[in-house]
Amino acid sequence: MENSIAAKIREINLQLEGSEAQLVAVSKFHPVEALRQAYEAGQRMFGESRVQELLSKVPHMPEDVQWHFIGHLQTNKVKALLPHVSLIESIDSERLLALVDKETLKLGITVRVLMQVHVAQEETKTGFLPEELTDYFKRRAYETLQATHICGIMGMASNTEDKDRIREDFKAIRRSFDEIRAMCPDLRGFDTVSMGMSGDWPEAVQQGSTLIRVGTAIFGHRQY
Ligand SMILES: *Cc1c(COP(=O)(O)O)cnc(C)c1O
Repeated sequence: MENSIAAKIREINLQLEGSEAQLVAVSKFHPVEALRQAYEAGQRMFGESRVQELLSKVPHMPEDVQWHFIGHLQTNKVKALLPHVSLIESIDSERLLALVDKETLKLGITVRVLMQVHVAQEETKTGFLPEELTDYFKRRAYETLQATHICGIMGMASNTEDKDRIREDFKAIRRSFDEIRAMCPDLRGFDTVSMGMSGDWPEAVQQGSTLIRVGTAIFGHRQY
């Protein structure tokens, strides 16, 4: 009998058919055994929000796993993360971006990142305001990066039951992405809009998400 993690992944992928979006399985706070079940079901992109936890899982999973970092990245953890991460989705300041670039260059590798944009109501969520992000690209500040590819943006909708509000938040994230892309046609590979979680990913896909980050709906509730 198919396990329930595999069944959920299959179900979500079925619903994503015909859309541009791909699934990142958010495995934070779940044991390697759960990740293995997801892997067996064909899942390759996994999202983690703490560097130590991601690093502890890497040796126990096959090499072709693509690790996405989705949490607040502390500056003292950047160096350890870089060799193992496929995409840092949560660049939330220019200072962090500059540091990531510097450390990546030192390692002689390259890194792919998303800029995190803050559109939600909650003050607690981090990231650039849409106007700060526009300003960053208008100044063409990214031209100074030597080892970092900015591949798109990541955002979260407000934590609310109000579907209209959620839709507006996703629209704002997508709008920010489209604006930047139109303004900077030289930004190659700028093609990713990461938005949508367990409670709201169908709305995110409707509004043009290309990457959904789903944890609870696959793995169940987290044991903190
Ligand atoms: C935890 C987390 C998710 C997944 O949330 P679920 O509600 O469990 O799907 C997605 N994105 C980010 C940035 C997260 O921290």
